[in-house]
Amino acid sequence: MDDHVPNKGISNGISHSDWSPSSWRIKPIKQPVNYEDQALVDKATAKLRRLPPIVTPTEIWKLRRALAEVAQGKAFLLQGGDCAELFDYCNDQAIDSKVKLLLQMSLVLIWGGNKPVVRIARMAGQYAKPRSSPMETVGGKQMPSFRGDILNGYPSDQRAIDPDRLVQAYFHSAATLNYLRAQLASGIADLHNPMEWELGHVGDPELQQKYTKIVESISESLRFMRTVGADTAGQLETVDLFTSHEGLLLEYEEALTRKLKHPSNRNVPPTPKPAPKVSPLTGGALIDPSIPQDPETTGHYNTSAHFLWVGDRTRQPDHAHIEYFRGIENPIGIKVGPTTTPADLTQLLDIVDPRRETGKVTLITRYGESKVAELLPQHIAAVRRTGHTVVWQCDPMHGNTRSTTSGIKTRSFAAIFSELAAALRIHRECGSILGGVHLELTGDAVTECTGGSQGLQDEDLGARYETFCDPRLNEKQALELAFLVAGSQRG
Ligand code: PEP
Ligand code: MN
Repeated sequence: MDDHVPNKGISNGISHSDWSPSSWRIKPIKQPVNYEDQALVDKATAKLRRLPPIVTPTEIWKLRRALAEVAQGKAFLLQGGDCAELFDYCNDQAIDSKVKLLLQMSLVLIWGGNKPVVRIARMAGQYAKPRSSPMETVGGKQMPSFRGDILNGYPSDQRAIDPDRLVQAYFHSAATLNYLRAQLASGIADLHNPMEWELGHVGDPELQQKYTKIVESISESLRFMRTVGADTAGQLETVDLFTSHEGLLLEYEEALTRKLKHPSNRNVPPTPKPAPKVSPLTGGALIDPSIPQDPETTGHYNTSAHFLWVGDRTRQPDHAHIEYFRGIENPIGIKVGPTTTPADLTQLLDIVDPRRETGKVTLITRYGESKVAELLPQHIAAVRRTGHTVVWQCDPMHGNTRSTTSGIKTRSFAAIFSELAAALRIHRECGSILGGVHLELTGDAVTECTGGSQGLQDEDLGARYETFCDPRLNEKQALELAFLVAGSQRG
């Protein structure tokens, strides 16, 4: 999967000008797609270009401002959802259960951190998956790898790349977000309604008591707010929920990138500390942050989701994905792993955030529980030297994947919490801020990760192992992780 598409004779050098939604096409690319019939791809992207935006610049800037708060430690970011979202998950039960879980987790985290929580679902578009090999073996049979519903299907007879899926992705994304918006407007997040917390699975009586206390404390606070009339603006009736996906399939992202008018209130707070004029690691000149925000009235927005991230496999500074990402106004994430060097990080930030806008970039760290203590402090120090103010988000899932003796891909709850707890502690020790968490989870009672209060063992994974890519926390494990994080936040 690491083949480069030939560079068509144009320099690999990083230029800060000459960006367009299609300028990624002249760069080498990781995870390329070899479509058999280019005419069908052109037809699909032409259709996508005519379709209306799924999200708007006003919403995108609302999230940008919220992430600026996160970067400064004034809010906490919760991002979660499936590893690979299937078109099939576009149904009311699957959407409702995920929204309810994210909402409950966010209440626990508000209680823990005593600050607002920004919620981003990995949903309504998380259809493209990077793969380490073009082929995989399923049920003893070799076949082309499943690359996500936007390219091919999981069943063995649907593994051929089908360009029409690009258009299907748009409609599934739009239908999911339409239902999400309708449910939020109809009161799915109405905090006046008592919630079902279902803590019966927690076998340990001490833990059960601890969690019950947290829930009681949250319910008590909500009751109090109601009694004193603190909800005059109807703020308890709904919440903001933003959408996100990995910006992997650039044909799709390009077709939904539009030049649109900026909303009038797009300012984010300036970066609080003075920044050096020259990047200490790359030696490259940086744009002076005292220069006022771009006076242009329009900018390029990726209208397929509020937030997009670049994966660990596609974040090379001189390659296609970073070229695409540097030109959009959306807040963006970059996965940071064991192979990211401090110099890479500095260079990447200078490319995608030349104006050093607070919270424009979220660094999503995913080292693994055994590597976080060694690598995170180096990365924190490198970023501090650059003068960029980022959101630091911990993804404790992707560095902790293991195989059971029978070859099932899983993750242990203990390893996940261990990396997360270490990230919290290390940021604190370094005088930095852990701004949020990035989780793979589902609202259903699956058995894909081991551990947690249900005590799932390797042998139990077969009961409901339903993921089509990485193992997800089930609803109980995800909520429990929120309880543990909240406990650590309270000290
Ligand atoms: C993912 O988030 O599903 C993923 C593939 O992560 P990473 O790029 O960190 O490996
Ligand atoms: Mn994953």
